[in-house]
Amino acid sequence: NAEPASVFSEGWLKRVYDQKKVKDVRSRFPPEPNGYLHIGHCKAIAVNFGFARYHKGVCFLRYDDTNPEKEEEVYFTSILDIIKWLGFEPYKVTYSSDNFDRLYELAEELIQKDKAYVCHCSREEVNRQRGGPDNRGPRYGCEHRTRPVEESLAEFRAMRDGKYKAGEAFLRMKQSLTDPKEGNPQMWDLPAYRVLENNYHHRTGDKWRIYPTYDFTHCICDALEDITHSMCTTEFQQSRVSYDWLLEQLDMKIPGSDEKGPMQREYGRLNVGGTILSKRRILMLVEGTTVEKKKDNGTIEKKAIPPSVRGWDDPRLYTLVALRRRGIPAKALLNFVEELGVTDALTEIQPPRLESAIRKYLERTVPRQMLVLDPVKVVIEGLAAEDEQEITVPYDPKGAIPGERKVKLGKEVYIDRSDFREEDSPEYFRLAPNKVVGLYNVAFPIRATSFSTDENGKVTEIKAVKADGEKPKTYIQWVDVATAIPVTARQYNSLFKSDSPNALDWKNGGWADDLNPNSEVVYEHAVIERGLKDLIKAHTLNPSGSSDDLIRFQALRTAYFCVDVDSTADKIVLNQVVSLREDKAK
Ligand code: ATP
Ligand code: MG
Ligand code: MG
Repeated sequence: NAEPASVFSEGWLKRVYDQKKVKDVRSRFPPEPNGYLHIGHCKAIAVNFGFARYHKGVCFLRYDDTNPEKEEEVYFTSILDIIKWLGFEPYKVTYSSDNFDRLYELAEELIQKDKAYVCHCSREEVNRQRGGPDNRGPRYGCEHRTRPVEESLAEFRAMRDGKYKAGEAFLRMKQSLTDPKEGNPQMWDLPAYRVLENNYHHRTGDKWRIYPTYDFTHCICDALEDITHSMCTTEFQQSRVSYDWLLEQLDMKIPGSDEKGPMQREYGRLNVGGTILSKRRILMLVEGTTVEKKKDNGTIEKKAIPPSVRGWDDPRLYTLVALRRRGIPAKALLNFVEELGVTDALTEIQPPRLESAIRKYLERTVPRQMLVLDPVKVVIEGLAAEDEQEITVPYDPKGAIPGERKVKLGKEVYIDRSDFREEDSPEYFRLAPNKVVGLYNVAFPIRATSFSTDENGKVTEIKAVKADGEKPKTYIQWVDVATAIPVTARQYNSLFKSDSPNALDWKNGGWADDLNPNSEVVYEHAVIERGLKDLIKAHTLNPSGSSDDLIRFQALRTAYFCVDVDSTADKIVLNQVVSLREDKAK
């Protein structure tokens, strides 16, 4: 077996498999369809789909749609899309709601077994029963806990039939609330079903007024789908006991054994610092918000904060749709997540670590191009006819990426404004009057002779001559004026000035003051060598067929870019994927 070692062949995930060695592995990825997936979910996808793939089993995509108040159609589509983008194909797409009838029957069964009861206590009262605000006081059961089975059954049906409003009744599991030795809050008579006010469900319509909770639904759906290994994040560690308890009551699992039924195990989350992942907060960035400030005299002042990003897929965000649009290759992202490893410990990273991994990946996979962000024209005077030529240049000077392109050199070229100085100085090595600089791939360097400016003193044109035989200290990128393609280039920096935007004031809108005004820098008049057209053409003629099929390149001395979906036939739009080097520029 020549397979390379992976997170699945050794370590934590191997031990999970060893604890339940089955021939037919069945796993699942169970997102709540209440938002776009973020970079943390990429780990959950890699773990669950990857585990099944490694063991030649199957992985379900199960939408955990038990909270109709928060679900929207776009999220369903986007989640599946992203899973496919990452290179996985669900064995089956299922919905927790597929099982609503069965779940209801099982709830009745639980009541019949005297393992659940309908409770009418208020939230505050339930909290007191569970030991008060810090969960440390004495615990006790309420009068409903001991009511006859028949009564709970009748009340549960009444809940179903609409007798109760939200909060007036709920079904509770009869766990170990009253056992003083039971220290796990997940065993203190958790809710199993509740009445919802906004109860229209996108799949079951208005059939149900009552909906099952996560704690009731998740383990049962796992069992109904014959899931073998149910992996989730460590916040659910304490829930493992209630997961097993419920399945055992319903004869779907055998106490003290993982042989029958699904086995839950918990891995550490992947958190990315320095950015916002919370759905609620991203929504404020996407849609803008209104904050209310109470003034000293008691009046309330409303302040509107406009949207600060273009949408959920804005390349400055860390949702997976945003990372995709920014041009991060799916494979690079997956490799990165795997390299971080899987254990039961939390993994916390900062964006530069991700960027460095992406940079390494792109370094050996994408062609080079010459892009000039802020062009200024250089006229090379006295250039001989034979000097105007087509130069054949490899896509990668180191030869790692196959192919070559033709770069045209004419009398007029664009260089970047930042590569010219009106006054020379000894420690400066690029172009200045009477100074020599090399042009990438051109046989001779050039020497600036003069320049002209507009009424504001802005340089409009530089005159230069061929500087045969001289040795330049530096080479710069350039683009032939006659064949240049105009493009819009968007460069990205972090969205906030602070390194810990989660610590900002999210309640009263203080976060808006910390937005980085340079988080997106747009170069409307950038130019790129005509070779980009060849890359686009080759791509259209011969698309890879994969959903990760973006045109990406390294713009020499500038950054890695991809062609954005906003591009049209007349105007190409580029997104910066990552910079060439780690920098602290803000
Ligand atoms: P969030 O609140 O951050 O949006 P969530 O837990 O509500 O996340 P779900 O839709 O329930 O999101 O997540 C689906 C699966 O992804 C769950 O199994 C969950 O444990 C896992 N998951 C969520 N966030 C992370 C993360 N940061 N790292 C690893 N796995 C995660
Ligand atoms: Mg969740
Ligand atoms: Mg959540």
